[in-house]
Amino acid sequence: MKVIKIGGGCLKGKKTIESILDLLARRVSGDIIVVSALHGITDMLIDGMADALADEEKIPSLMTRIRSKHMATARHIISDPDLQKAFSKTFGKGIQRLERYYYGLSYTGESTPKMRDLISSYGERFSAELLTCAMNARGVSSVCRMPQDIGMITDGKYEDATADLEVTRGNFREHLTPLIDSGTLVFIPGFYGVSQTGDITTYGRGGTDYSAAVATVAMEATVLEFWKDVAGFMTADPRMVSEAELIPILSYAEAAELCYFGAKILHPRAVEPIRRYGLDIAIKSTLDPDAPGSLITHTSPEAPRVIKSVTQNTEVGIIKVYASGVGARPGMLAEVTGCVTDSGINIKSVVTSQTCISLLLDKRDMDRGYAILEKLTPNPFRKVDREDAVALISMVGEGLHTRKGVAARCFSAMDEARINVEMIAFGPSPVALYFIVHEKDLKASVRALHGTFFNGGEG
Ligand code: ASP
Ligand code: MG
Repeated sequence: MKVIKIGGGCLKGKKTIESILDLLARRVSGDIIVVSALHGITDMLIDGMADALADEEKIPSLMTRIRSKHMATARHIISDPDLQKAFSKTFGKGIQRLERYYYGLSYTGESTPKMRDLISSYGERFSAELLTCAMNARGVSSVCRMPQDIGMITDGKYEDATADLEVTRGNFREHLTPLIDSGTLVFIPGFYGVSQTGDITTYGRGGTDYSAAVATVAMEATVLEFWKDVAGFMTADPRMVSEAELIPILSYAEAAELCYFGAKILHPRAVEPIRRYGLDIAIKSTLDPDAPGSLITHTSPEAPRVIKSVTQNTEVGIIKVYASGVGARPGMLAEVTGCVTDSGINIKSVVTSQTCISLLLDKRDMDRGYAILEKLTPNPFRKVDREDAVALISMVGEGLHTRKGVAARCFSAMDEARINVEMIAFGPSPVALYFIVHEKDLKASVRALHGTFFNGGEG
């Protein structure tokens, strides 16, 4: 039995959805499919909350947009008129409830995390029901099961929940094993679970990947397949390096690092439960379903030149706090990082020298982080600077920190390309090396590094 995750990126346009369903129909039975909302629907649901709060009059047109997107897709992918009617009926009920929540939001004028999670979970509920009907129309016996009905239990934290794997395991087996054993295909909406007390809690944006991992662990599936419109993990972003190649096998640690900073293939949290139970993840391309894709498993062969992938992330910035004697005075580091993290901002990395503390932040946290640090009492802090036009380069590979000379080769490649490394960002990971370059040097850096470690460089 396997778990397949189908993301919103694949659920875009009637024709694409239709071809994915046809592909599914040929390949599955007695498996679990965890689905995202149709492309763009989660954004629509979330933006709709702000609209509803601002002006009640905006609710009807929002509901119309959500309704017509699903119904137009339903008419295209569900051929059987009775099944189309069945979908329309359940969907209608869901839409009615959703509409009431929006009015509730508008009347109370208050948007709580609980309400935000409840409303944003509807995209997945709708798509799971829609795809279930479409599969039945293709003659594949399928059912849809909501996380709240099959006991996908979370810690109750809104917008960033974590599943209770043990409890969920028991519940899932009780509810799903008989279905799976009878060869029925089970659709489950991703993105959310339910607290002990019955509240809907989402796993954060992109959380369907995590849902799928939880389902895989709970059912001890042989593999978790991510169906995507990309070939798999690549040695570099093909838009930067045309010679980039597919990586056939990665370790959990390599995949997690790649997802954390660079390649937006998987939600980094999805690897966590899978790794704990020693299961496998496969990335499969819907455009080329027979291609091997990438496999993520517990061990991976060390790459000939150690590095598996060079990726980049431009969604970062640096804030530099200057002060004297930073290196010798540990209290200062705690003060600087403390005031940033207290405000809920996540610091990606910190580097200190004798005169400066550099903080690596997410781009969207830069303004807030800068404002907070500017308020530090002057003495002994002298100056706060920010650098926004920077990019983070990640070099990932098992054995990277134990094999001699990898870092040296990396920096001499940069040197030969006459690129200045702005900051070396030490992460706690033994499989990754991070550094920062100016945004204008990004492409040249990635190309120089890829050239050194993949084509032509000394072995
Ligand atoms: N639909 C949710 C989102 O857009 C969850 C997901 O697709 O993973 O974030
Ligand atoms: Mg995603």
